[in-house]
Amino acid sequence: MQIAMMARNAGLYSHKRLKEAAEARGHELTIINTLRCYMNIASRRPEVYYNGEKLPRFDAIIPRIGASVTFYGLAVLRQFEMMGVYPLNESVAIGRSRDKLRSMQILARDGIGLPVTTFAHDPRQTEEVLKLAGDAPLVIKLLEGTQGIGVVLADTNRSAKSVIEAFRGAQVNILVQEFIKEAGGTDIRALVIGGKVVAAMQRKGAEGEFRSNLHRGGSAQAVRITPEERSTAVRAAKALGLNVCGVDMLRANHGAVVMEVNSSPGLEGVEKATGKDIAGQIIEFLEKQAKPGKTRTKGK
Ligand code: ADP
Ligand code: GLU
Repeated sequence: MQIAMMARNAGLYSHKRLKEAAEARGHELTIINTLRCYMNIASRRPEVYYNGEKLPRFDAIIPRIGASVTFYGLAVLRQFEMMGVYPLNESVAIGRSRDKLRSMQILARDGIGLPVTTFAHDPRQTEEVLKLAGDAPLVIKLLEGTQGIGVVLADTNRSAKSVIEAFRGAQVNILVQEFIKEAGGTDIRALVIGGKVVAAMQRKGAEGEFRSNLHRGGSAQAVRITPEERSTAVRAAKALGLNVCGVDMLRANHGAVVMEVNSSPGLEGVEKATGKDIAGQIIEFLEKQAKPGKTRTKGK
């Protein structure tokens, strides 16, 4: 196959591994810098140009669109989809997962367990929002945060109120969420490929840290997950329409709740923790799926 990968940094572990895995299986993988693609979006015969040349019609495309370039990246991906190129994850599905409110609403609609999560625009509703979320301790999150930055634990309603007011002053969108204390500073990342959990790891925060992000000094190890957790992860992937994703869950007393679904999961943590060849499994998935006519939504 001729595979394209949209990525800005070819040197990242995940990107290197996907290229290696594709080549090891006899395919050609071209890395294209998302922001350097350009196109005539009004043409009935969609094409994508790059470095002064028209790109060939690839068999498959692996979108690794950074959060900060989602808007442009999805437009480029839609263009490839309109050309009939098979995307590892479709633009519509990535769009759903990148919007935290939209994805939680879609998951809730499908009956998937979530932490109690509230959202409001108007600062006059702060007290009401705190009541709706069920009182402190509460987790307050920046809607646009990643890697655990902008995730704050408030122990009392008073501190929750001041954190909310501080965020509001900074003109950012926030979520107020029930704190799942019993998760004990750990979370579960289940990697789903083609409707199956292929690997799972547990991440644990550094001493005294409730956030388990590896970027915040957390550590990861392979973990056995329960059949319910497996099915929650698979249902979450299906609800959002993602072929490949990382489903982050917290182990609450009443079962696993989904915190977030990541459509470009990093491979380093999970491959090192589990010893599994996830990149190879992703390429294998493309081998089975990337047939003409299999691109479903084409951005619709
Ligand atoms: P980011 O998207 O920036 O990684 P997350 O929402 O994943 O932010 O939160 C970062 C970490 O904080 C999670 O991995 C988890 O360990 C912890 N955390 C987040 N939300 C909660 C919660 N409601 N209850 C308990 N711990 C949480
Ligand atoms: N209802 C679809 C969704 O959940 C709409 C897709 C679209 O945005 O067009 O994503």
